[in-house]
Amino acid sequence: MSRFLKVQCDCGAQQIVFGDAKSEVTCQKCGNTLVGPSGGRANIHCRILEVLG
Ligand SMILES: [Zn+2]
Repeated sequence: MSRFLKVQCDCGAQQIVFGDAKSEVTCQKCGNTLVGPSGGRANIHCRILEVLG
């Protein structure tokens, strides 16, 4: 899986993240962890609104 995901944080902020993120991605608004690495595959902690590509 190598694609971008449009996700929404619990705070309502929307953000584009890489589906295979190797590092932690945090919400730009509240700092909540959106994506964390898990055994080489991204672990999505938030709601996925849309899969891009
Ligand atoms: Zn947030």
